[in-house]
Amino acid sequence: MARRPAKAPAKKANAKKAAAKKAASRKGAAAKGAARRASGRLADRALRQEIIETCLAMNAAGINQGSSGNISARNASGFLITPSGVDYEKMTPQQIVQVDLEGGYFGEWLPSSEWRMHLDVYLGKPEAQAVVHTHATYATALSCLRREIPAFHYMIGVTGGATLRCSEYATFGTQALSNTMMTALEDRTACLLANHGMICFADTLPKSLKLAVEIETLCRQYFIACQAGQPVVLGDAEMTGVLARFKTYGLQSDELGENDALAVEAPVRRDAPRRAQKSDQKSGPKRAPKSGKKAGARKRRG
Ligand code: 13P
Ligand code: ZN
Repeated sequence: MARRPAKAPAKKANAKKAAAKKAASRKGAAAKGAARRASGRLADRALRQEIIETCLAMNAAGINQGSSGNISARNASGFLITPSGVDYEKMTPQQIVQVDLEGGYFGEWLPSSEWRMHLDVYLGKPEAQAVVHTHATYATALSCLRREIPAFHYMIGVTGGATLRCSEYATFGTQALSNTMMTALEDRTACLLANHGMICFADTLPKSLKLAVEIETLCRQYFIACQAGQPVVLGDAEMTGVLARFKTYGLQSDELGENDALAVEAPVRRDAPRRAQKSDQKSGPKRAPKSGKKAGARKRRG
């Protein structure tokens, strides 16, 4: 009679194999996790440096002075923010403070006294990646009038709406200030803070700084126009059209989505687009088409 093959050793070998596989995958996951953490640390180091450079650029642009104002940028753990009361010239990347989205912070340095405003922007505005708060001269002067700035110029549309609102007054560094700021920021990317300054946000640090410079420029223009008379305010219909154009302003034609229209009335292009030129079809290896919806799109200028 033929003997039945022994099952036990095969079972044992399979179990061993499965355990080895499990261990390898655990090791792989751990290595991946470590790599992610290391690349996160590297990214954060660069972000800390970028925050300091943005602070220095903010003061150099003449829209802030001394250690007033503060800047932050969102990261995987919440956001990184300037420390409280430290001169930007002396600030080091290690002094930039990590704050989590529950309002806790890490390290020796106290975060900016305005951490609540930054936290509430990140919680309430998912598109916000960087926040700039400044005491720019004209914005601050107008904030003392506690007046909403109307559409005296079409560029007011950079706020995301037809006005630059001014929050109600509340003491610096308080939740009350953050609450009134959030009200003024409804459907907006910037607002004045009564008797204090301005705050704005965008999806990168350079764009946030650019927006802060634009807001200060508008405030200066409005201030000067008011000295000379009463500025004529653009109507709602005009501003609705302007805001629609702003959606694609700065985009090149190959960066538009399917339903987008060019923001500008462009003249007729006289030369043939590059890809239709004969020399491209004849010579050289063809470039592989880029994947994604906006294939071949140039990077949008910050
Ligand atoms: P911090 O130095 O604490 O950021 O304060 C500056 C400021 O602008 C307060 O509103
Ligand atoms: Zn301030």
